[in-house]
Amino acid sequence: MFTSLSNISLHLSGQLTNTQHQSDTCQCTLCRRQTGSLFFTAHTIPNSAFTFTSSESSPPNTDPPTLKIYKASQWGDRAFCSTCGSFLYWKSTDPYDGTLGLAVGTIDPLYLFGEGAEDGSKGFGLALAGGGGYHAWCGNEIPGVTDGIGILGCDGRGNRAVKN
Ligand SMILES: [Zn+2]
Repeated sequence: MFTSLSNISLHLSGQLTNTQHQSDTCQCTLCRRQTGSLFFTAHTIPNSAFTFTSSESSPPNTDPPTLKIYKASQWGDRAFCSTCGSFLYWKSTDPYDGTLGLAVGTIDPLYLFGEGAEDGSKGFGLALAGGGGYHAWCGNEIPGVTDGIGILGCDGRGNRAVKN
């Protein structure tokens, strides 16, 4: 189990390692409003690498009933838990994309920073939120606030998209 909200769990197949530095950020208005933050941090994962489950029964190979997906724009769907309200992911409507951007803040503390790890692990926070991926809507930066933050690619990590 990787993300365990009150009523939705995310299960990943395989193991994450610190070599998977594919975290992205977005400063678009939709991401700001959805997350309630100045930018959204996502970890890109292939659709084939995970399943969402719930304690509530649902038919096989279907999403849990509390996982709500809505069309936020012509190019993306967004999902949240209807029990606790947590934002879960952004996903392109392009069927050939094959990935989704999992909201890093929903990842369990054990995996994010090692809380409760019996082996002393520090978690995968650097890999999951290290800012090595794609930085969208940097043209929407707030001068003096978000235009100099390393995780947003301002220190040369990842690829910045100043125009979207
Ligand atoms: Zn966005």
